[in-house]
Amino acid sequence: MSRQKQKRILITGAAGFLGSHLCDRFITEGFFVIGMDNLITGDLRHIEHLFKLPNFEFYQHDVSKFVHVPGKLDYILHFASPASPIDYLRIPIQTLKVGSLGTHNLLGLAKTKGARILVASTSEVYGDPLVSPQSEEYWGNVNPVGPRGVYDEAKRFQEAMTMAYHNFHGLETRIVRIFNTYGPRMRLNDGRALPTFIAQALRGEELTVFGDGSQTRSFCYVSDQVEGIFRLLLSDYTLPMNIGNPDELTIRQIAEEIITLTGNKSGIRYESLPVDDPKQRRPDISKARQILGWQPTISREEGLERTISYFKQLSSDTLKKGDF
Ligand code: NAD
Ligand code: UDP
Repeated sequence: MSRQKQKRILITGAAGFLGSHLCDRFITEGFFVIGMDNLITGDLRHIEHLFKLPNFEFYQHDVSKFVHVPGKLDYILHFASPASPIDYLRIPIQTLKVGSLGTHNLLGLAKTKGARILVASTSEVYGDPLVSPQSEEYWGNVNPVGPRGVYDEAKRFQEAMTMAYHNFHGLETRIVRIFNTYGPRMRLNDGRALPTFIAQALRGEELTVFGDGSQTRSFCYVSDQVEGIFRLLLSDYTLPMNIGNPDELTIRQIAEEIITLTGNKSGIRYESLPVDDPKQRRPDISKARQILGWQPTISREEGLERTISYFKQLSSDTLKKGDF
């Protein structure tokens, strides 16, 4: 493909879980991919296989500070942000900044370059929802000053700022509301339920279920999520869109499934429920079905098996330390 014709895409959060899978996908689609990350929760090992490619470049940079990228840009995917509750509780100010200042910088860059931008929002904009399933029309139930407020409100501001650039400057924008997504390259000790449970099970430890485990989540396998994001970026749809798997189950059920799949003998230990932990979460994906022709294709069993195999091939030292 000629250099003029090749589409150039900037992906922020490139060294993280979703960002690294998105880099792989856009490389496969023939794009020139520019990854950017400050490595606060990410790891370069997730994208080291891309460094030797002629159509990949990487910048280590904090996007909450002014962002400059040389050359033309056709698309921007803004995925930089801590995403796990223990990460955003540890670095609350950076979380607020990357969702607000970081988003503002990237919208400004998109405007300068004439690029289309897709921002990564979240089911957390619905807070502890009072309706189920959650459709895009639901305005949410968020505690702005609770511990999760730093993430939820940053993402709500991100959506408002993105719509303002769309309406006021005519910028081409897309907003994806991502529901719990899992798969290879999640950090073992990032505190989210699935990597935590799988790592505990593989170490032969008890699985730590918070509360009585009756709270629900709906887990989407990463390749389905990436497909949904890819289709949304290339669609004409400018309002927020849910992408997730409506297959809802309780946290206790998923812990039990992981125990069965790994043959763990230690069982479950119940610990206290974090403040403002949402009681139920399930996406209404009617819009994604109708507008993108998208729906999840990977069953929970298959997704869990693939994720467990990924964690199993890590060294026992990595499994013990948990920092990868
Ligand atoms: P992750 O922590 O694995 O990846 C986030 C990446 O962003 C990391 O590599 C981190 O170093 C980088 N980053 C953070 N702040 C930065 C900054 N200021 N400048 C540059 N880079 C920065 O998390 P993830 O699960 O891959 O999440 C990616 C995005 O998707 C986030 O925006 C998150 O809010 C959103 N999201 C994810 C999920 C999910 O289930 N995985 C659900 C909802 C929303
Ligand atoms: N959870 C749990 N044990 C853990 C980690 C998480 O029981 O070791 C629970 C958590 O309280 C929540 C659910 O699992 O109810 C999903 O948590 P996660 O951090 O994965 O995502 P989020 O709460 O952001 O949906």
